[in-house]
Amino acid sequence: LLLAYDPARRLARVQVNLERSLVNARMIYEILDLKPRQGDAPDAPALKIAKGEIVFDLVSFSYAESLPVLHGVSFVAAAGKTTAIVGGSGAGKSTLTALLQRFYDLDAGTISIDGQDISKVTKHSLRQSIAYVSQQPYLFEGSIRDNIRYGRANATDAEIEIAAQQAQADDFIRQQVNGYDTLVGENGVTLSGGQRQRLSIARAIVRNAPILVLDEATSALDNESEARVQVALAEVMRNRTTIVIAHRLSTVVNADNIVVLEHGRLVEQGTHRALLANPHGVYARFHRLQNEKGLGIVNDIKAAPEK
Ligand code: ADP
Ligand code: MG
Repeated sequence: LLLAYDPARRLARVQVNLERSLVNARMIYEILDLKPRQGDAPDAPALKIAKGEIVFDLVSFSYAESLPVLHGVSFVAAAGKTTAIVGGSGAGKSTLTALLQRFYDLDAGTISIDGQDISKVTKHSLRQSIAYVSQQPYLFEGSIRDNIRYGRANATDAEIEIAAQQAQADDFIRQQVNGYDTLVGENGVTLSGGQRQRLSIARAIVRNAPILVLDEATSALDNESEARVQVALAEVMRNRTTIVIAHRLSTVVNADNIVVLEHGRLVEQGTHRALLANPHGVYARFHRLQNEKGLGIVNDIKAAPEK
């Protein structure tokens, strides 16, 4: 058995904590490699990753009893490349990442990875292939070391420390009285938003998965921490298929492809340069607003007047 702790008991405690802190229940998966049988066909095969190409094909989705959130969205996240998703608050960006991990079933369309429809493979194998850094990094009661190890239960202490170094977290961890054994969570030390985020990035690094999903992973950081974490992320993103959602335009400028969502519709896509070449495009409008404000907060874009 690879798990160093009792996952069932841990899960029970986690659920209580999640309810208490009103964290979206889907975040739970971020760290748990439990085998979700629900929704798998009895003979469902495991996902086999060759290159890591992700194809969204005419994906439509609505949450139960709500208006449609995504309307026929199609794009390719090329293998080993970085695809950025930008758009105003509520455009459907996080929902796309939830669908990729099969937290919900599509209303129409397919998502496939290396030619395999993700709804046909086991959820477990799908989620094992994805490292996910969420908007709200969640820490579990336990040591800092265990919190990073949630990324991969059989990670060695050395691997955990290397991941922490890459995530720019090793310094502040060593400054704690008990270092990597310092307890965090409800009864442990309080960490800043930036420190929590760096732990969650260390967790993603140690996971060593072929697909990386970053949902506004640096939005909780101040400028200096963000610069440090960007360095760390650049390392993790190399040679991985990465989907990145970012507030700040600066973090998407170098993406291989930028997908622009507006009210659940893909309105344009291309490189930063190609998108700026269309001055009437949504992205160019984002960009102008960023420059006016000097902030680069993409999600303030809804306030931008159409010209
Ligand atoms: P973004 O990440 O681009 O800000 P989201 O994907 O989080 O947007 O949300 C898209 C739309 O779906 C929003 O209108 C939001 O209110 C709605 N939504 C998000 N999560 C849920 C949910 N769990 N249940 C119902 N509606 C949701
Ligand atoms: Mg979001």
